[in-house]
Amino acid sequence: MRRKLVAGNWKMHGSHTANAELLAGITAARPFGCDVAVCVPFPYLSETAVALAASEVRWGAQDCSAHEQGAYTGEVSAAMLAEFGCRYAIVGHSERRQYHAETDQQVADKAKAALARGITPIVCVGETLAQREAGETESVVKRQLSAVIHTLGHCAGEMVVAYEPVWAIGTGKVATPEQAQAVHAVLRAQLKAATPQADAMKILYGGSMKPDNAATLMSQPDIDGGLIGGASLKAADFVAICRAA
Ligand code: PGA
Repeated sequence: MRRKLVAGNWKMHGSHTANAELLAGITAARPFGCDVAVCVPFPYLSETAVALAASEVRWGAQDCSAHEQGAYTGEVSAAMLAEFGCRYAIVGHSERRQYHAETDQQVADKAKAALARGITPIVCVGETLAQREAGETESVVKRQLSAVIHTLGHCAGEMVVAYEPVWAIGTGKVATPEQAQAVHAVLRAQLKAATPQADAMKILYGGSMKPDNAATLMSQPDIDGGLIGGASLKAADFVAICRAA
């Protein structure tokens, strides 16, 4: 039995006041029967670490540099994140792939940099609507995951994978449990061919997961939790999803 993970992806939302309220709402609802994490904007890592220090809720970042250090203006290294007690770093989110032209290889390098500092990368893969309609879903997610598997080598079993169909992100159009499970099974098979740890690895679903659809999605055999955007910004919704896991 894989323990489920529910991770909030706050994206570029938050403020001191809003974060304090949200984190208080989450910690007040503990304990959860699953692993819970929040991935917050960089400037709020420090206060998040303080707010969550006494709880089992973990915190993470939404990206990390592929580089160790150096002349990379605006980037944040995995070593820096590790200093804040980050347990997770999302890498390869479709918004980064789309707006920052991140390639499969760059995503893989970021995942490797995170792992090198003891941070679990949450590697996002997913197809666009056009790719799904063209019947390319499987080939797209396999290509995205393959770059990471090859770059991580024997450490591949240590990542968390998140399947996030781009057409479901922030749209309210959630993948059906069957659609999501079908892709998760493809990803699990690909991981099985790459690492003996595949059966223990978590594959999260992300894309309009809400309190009312979370339980059905997470009851699928290969869906091991959720990466939650919009619904992670309201404590009541996020907590309800954690409970559904
Ligand atoms: P959403 O976002 O839950 O708002 O669809 C998920 C994500 O982008 O990680």
